[in-house]
Amino acid sequence: MGIDLTPAMRQYLEIKNQHRDCILLCRMGDFYETFFEDAAIAARELNITLTTRNKNREDAVPLAGFPYHAASSYVGKLIAKGYKVAICEQMEDPKTAKGVVKREVVRIITPGLPVGAENILTADNVFLAAIDPGEKSASCGAAFLDLSTGEFYLAAALDLESLLAQLAGLNFRELLLREEVTGAEHINSLLPAAEFILANYLPAEYFSFTAAIDRLGDFSPVEEIKALDLARYPAAARAAGALIRYVQETQKTSLSHINRFRWYERDGYLILDDTAKRNLELFSSIIGGTPEGSLLHLLDETVTAMGKRMLRRWLNHPLRDAIRINERLQAVTDLKENHILRGNLRQILKGIYDLERLAARIAMQSASGRDLVALRDSLGQLPEIKSLLAGLSPPLIVYALSQIDVMEDTADLLAQAITAAPPPTIGEGATIKEGFDAELDLLLALVKDGFSGIAALEDRERRRTGISSLKVGFNNVFGYYIEISKARPFTLPPDYVRKQTLVNAERYINQELKEYEEKVLNARERIKEREQEVFFKLRADVAGQIPRIQGTAQSIALLDVLASLAEVAWKHNYCRPLVDNSLALEIEEGRHPVVERMPLAEGFVPNGLNMDGDNERFLVITGPNMAGKSTYIRQVALAVIMAQMGGFVPARGARIGVVDRIFTRLGAADNLSRGQSTFMVEMIEVASILKNATSKSLIILDEVGRGTGTFDGIAIAWAVAEYIHDARHLQSRTLFATHYHQLIELAITKRGVRNYNIAVRETGEGIIFLRKILPGGTNRSYGIHVARLAGLPEDAINRAREILENMEKRELDEAGQPAIARRKKIKKEGQLSIFDEV
Ligand code: ADP
Repeated sequence: MGIDLTPAMRQYLEIKNQHRDCILLCRMGDFYETFFEDAAIAARELNITLTTRNKNREDAVPLAGFPYHAASSYVGKLIAKGYKVAICEQMEDPKTAKGVVKREVVRIITPGLPVGAENILTADNVFLAAIDPGEKSASCGAAFLDLSTGEFYLAAALDLESLLAQLAGLNFRELLLREEVTGAEHINSLLPAAEFILANYLPAEYFSFTAAIDRLGDFSPVEEIKALDLARYPAAARAAGALIRYVQETQKTSLSHINRFRWYERDGYLILDDTAKRNLELFSSIIGGTPEGSLLHLLDETVTAMGKRMLRRWLNHPLRDAIRINERLQAVTDLKENHILRGNLRQILKGIYDLERLAARIAMQSASGRDLVALRDSLGQLPEIKSLLAGLSPPLIVYALSQIDVMEDTADLLAQAITAAPPPTIGEGATIKEGFDAELDLLLALVKDGFSGIAALEDRERRRTGISSLKVGFNNVFGYYIEISKARPFTLPPDYVRKQTLVNAERYINQELKEYEEKVLNARERIKEREQEVFFKLRADVAGQIPRIQGTAQSIALLDVLASLAEVAWKHNYCRPLVDNSLALEIEEGRHPVVERMPLAEGFVPNGLNMDGDNERFLVITGPNMAGKSTYIRQVALAVIMAQMGGFVPARGARIGVVDRIFTRLGAADNLSRGQSTFMVEMIEVASILKNATSKSLIILDEVGRGTGTFDGIAIAWAVAEYIHDARHLQSRTLFATHYHQLIELAITKRGVRNYNIAVRETGEGIIFLRKILPGGTNRSYGIHVARLAGLPEDAINRAREILENMEKRELDEAGQPAIARRKKIKKEGQLSIFDEV
């Protein structure tokens, strides 16, 4: 760089040097500008024009910028692409500054820390996570924060795999790791790349235990920190400390909305691992990964942002405690039955803004007048909610109401202080109401006075000079003036001083007008300043009430979610399940909540289930491909999840003995990014099930053993089934869908095994799917029928039939399938009735 750098460039380079990992946005008047490499990146990523300053010189500086008022959408685009953005503001008024205007980075916006502008954010949580893999054999820990709401969680686990399993599905965008940490690679390999878009490697001192305890203590009372028992989980504490420091260093402002640290997902929840969440399409559909087609999408009838986030939380962590589940069910029942009341409640809730995000912006001093109006209007809805629901008796609703703080004091204050429709920024219109601040009122009176003085002056001067075309005007450059048209000759009063000459008119000023001008302009300047002072004071007062706002936000979220579950139950005709601590799983006329809403030619055929956890605890479900096996086993798992969330289920009746964990081995959820074959993934999943399931678990297996040779596959499927059925620590309720019809023989010797099949009817050459589940197994796979339906050439179909016949004959002669063939084949009476008819 040449010696002849301008002072402004020198200032820029100094600041940029301290923020090398960021795109530096430099405020220049009404624009944010980027320079050098930043400009090239900004131009490319934001599709804005790259120009140069000092075009004709050799050391021309590349530059790209955008207007400051469009910043939020541009910054949103940058962070969505994984960039960090440092916002550098002018720290003094350019008009009064001597030399280069002082500039400072006031905030760094990163992918995991977006706050503010609504257009960057959806209602969903956005998390920043820090992970400390721990020392050798000690436990590892994590901390994660949604800065835009203030939710802060800690997590600990014995190994990284289970820690990361806890974080799965959390929408965390950014990750903090220790610089020289061994295992960073490992973490990367365990987290699918799509999950976070930026990893930061921070110096080891960020991850200090003692510093962490101090920092946590700055945000939350000491007793509450003590209660977290962090000495036992030092890695989680270190991660939390690093996270807080990173947030403080980037935000450079008050963070008083972060005032509670909680352990994440310890006990009491139905565990759903990442695989289960994906396979059951809880949050996104497998095909396309869209929210449409997911259970969440179907269940989401929430009307507030807080409710939306809470519903997602509930689906992520259904309960395991029958008492708490029934508490929710009771509330949902009342809201479902009170149809009109529910409608009114949801209508009122719609008027409540995102209180958690408002609280965050108030704490971080970025809330505008409009935000305070949003708060005021939201608070205004609360008394109505209280009186509307006052007659309801479910304890959970009574509790929620008791936790709503209508904050009359704050509501009144805001009503008195803020105008009905304040401008987005102070000074562009009235923010503070007249009558709220004496000094402001005085200034406003001065301006008014000045205006009427000026109006009177015009009248007086016209009469005094006898010039009828004389008028008083104002423009931004010249201020007030007396304008006289040149159309007719006139005698210039001696006290008039010329200000400006136009084609048709002359503009003057006199002493009196000058005095008024000063009065008005000064007062206007002061009004802007005073308004800002009053507003900042008001915002700080409200910031003192943040815990009250947050408490209320949680209650509103709770009511919203309960009403949403009630709405869904009513809309789709769900029933209230009986939830208890038994091992029963009984469903009468159950449906798949998502599939039943799809346009199906013949309509959805309901199917039941009747497990008792003892004599009937392991169902082998056979039937050809496409018969509806996976739909059936998934709908059972979904019913359990919906019930344990506290919601109704798509069935005529249901009894759900609480499940501690749902295991799934479904379809071909291949994970090529981890470099494992489909079959390997399948076996890893099965191994994990056999290791971790308990007698309270629900296991659903689809086509285990399909990824390998037929004999291998049958052998493995058989052995796995036996193991689950027999092993003392398992004996879990299991639905095993398979087209290995050989497995139906398990029922002969295993007490808890029952065979079911999904009925099809043969019609000459083809088959019709009846979608009905019936007791008994099927001894045919109908693969060739399905192949025919799919349009394989007739010759190939016929040849396949021939080969199958040959093989089936031999199967009876040879001992090709160890465990199965060794036994004598016994057919149970009635088992094959549906097929015998044909
Ligand atoms: P399988 O697992 O036996 O191969 P699926 O469960 O994938 O079969 O079902 C195939 C298709 O059949 C589904 O996509 C759905 O459209 C339809 N289907 C499944 N179950 C039902 C049902 N109970 N009623 C109506 N249609 C169904």
